Parts: sequence; C-alpha cells; structure tokens
Amino acid sequence: MKTIERKSLLYKTGVEYGDYTINHVQGCAHGCMFPCYAFNMAKRFGNVKSYQEWLEPKLVINAIDLLEKELPRLKDKIKSVQLCFTTDPFMSDYPEVGEMTIQIINKLNDYNVPAIVLTKSTLPHELAKLSRINQYGITLVSTDESFRDKYEPYTSKYEDRIKALKYLHERGCKTWVSIEPYPTPNINKQSLKKLLNRVKFVDYIVFGMWHYNKLISQYKDHKAFYDECSETVIDFCKKNNIRFHIKTGTYSKGESDLL
Ligand code: SF4
Repeated sequence: MKTIERKSLLYKTGVEYGDYTINHVQGCAHGCMFPCYAFNMAKRFGNVKSYQEWLEPKLVINAIDLLEKELPRLKDKIKSVQLCFTTDPFMSDYPEVGEMTIQIINKLNDYNVPAIVLTKSTLPHELAKLSRINQYGITLVSTDESFRDKYEPYTSKYEDRIKALKYLHERGCKTWVSIEPYPTPNINKQSLKKLLNRVKFVDYIVFGMWHYNKLISQYKDHKAFYDECSETVIDFCKKNNIRFHIKTGTYSKGESDLL
C-alpha cells in the first residue's frame, strides 16, 4: 500500500468521550456513505481530492518512530488514546494497517497508556494476547445487511464484527459498541432492542443520532424518535449493568451518562 510520513502523531481529540487520538492512516478503504465526516474534512483541507483517492489509504510509515519521541513527553498527560478518529484501525484488504495498529497498541501499553479501539472491520483474535488495559469496540448501527451494503459498502459484515467482539469479551477483554449514526425509520426501519440484545455482553455503549444530511430533517418526528431510542438504551444499560454515553444533541431530556 502507499505510504506517507508525518511530523507528529498523538493529538488531543475534540470527541466528547475521547482524550488523545492517533490516526496512522490517511484515507479509509471502508468508504462509508453516511457520509463520512473524516472524508469531508480531508477533502475540505485538500488532503484528498476524491472519494476514489479516499478509498486508497496511505499508511503513516514513521508512526512508531514518532510515538517513541512523543510518548515519553506526553505519557503523564494521557488518560487514553482513541484508535482512530479520522480513519479505521483495521481494514481487511490492507493487513499492513492492522499490523501497524497492533504495534501502536503495544507501544502505548509499554508506557501504561490504554488504547480505545473502534472499528467497522473484524477485530483480530490477536488482540486477546495484549494488555487488559485496552478497550475494543465496533460500530454497529444496524443488523440489517442491506443497510450495510448501502451505507458501509466495504466494511465487515455485522455478524462477523459481533462474533470477533464476543471472542475478545470471552477472553476477558473490555469491549464496547458505538451505535452512531443511528438511522431514523425513513432511512432504515429496524429494531433497536434487537440490536442491543446482540451486544448485551459489552461493558460500554455509546449511542448517537444520525446528523449528516437532509434525510433526518425529512423525518418530522426525529426528536421524539431519538428521545425514545435514548430511553431504550438507558433502560437496557441499567438493567444489564452496562456503562453508557448518549451523544450530545441526541436526548433532550437530560440523563446522558452512567460512568
Ligand atoms: S470507517 Fe469511519 S473513517 Fe472509514 S469511511 Fe467509514 S466513517 Fe469514514
């Protein structure tokens, strides 16, 4: 795969439930059509010219060298590092990405820094051999494969994602799920309860609304819909002793966190 060099790697993220982040790839072979916020930003700042270019990721080849320089300086400030915010740490057609991700996690763990991993790919079993300070997550906004074909065309199948996450959970790893961007019924009719039941075993759930394009405003009752969904998530998590976070703007009635 193509490579690039960067001048720095670790940076503080603006994500509401994140601390530091590492994006060791430019572009993303998953090519989500929500659309992808990271792609739009990369295009706006001139880092990629087209969707086609975005689909051909470039690996940051000096990532480990940069980490070796940055970690001794920053380690006491960092609570956790999110992998990733503007790309995906695992892509099935690019094993080099996953190999680099595992090297990065090991390097972070050498400094006692936990990694918080999130992917739309299949988490590799190898992660079960790493430190238990990490957290491994999947994005899961539907269990309906026709939705995946339309909006997340090059990602792993939902069942494969869940199976890999469960494998890690059964071996004592901390696991979590990001249910964002959750579609309104005019985008996809589906059962949130069914989805939640598929990931009942996880330690942590993040829930957030769909907020990228006109489709949501075409659904007149979207505020009431997301209030109802948020309450479903909160009740489910409390009943099953799962920590949760409802993303800002999703729930209008208050309670959003149980940490
Ligand atoms: S996996 Fe994430 S970064 Fe990659 S295209 Fe999809 S939304 Fe964008």
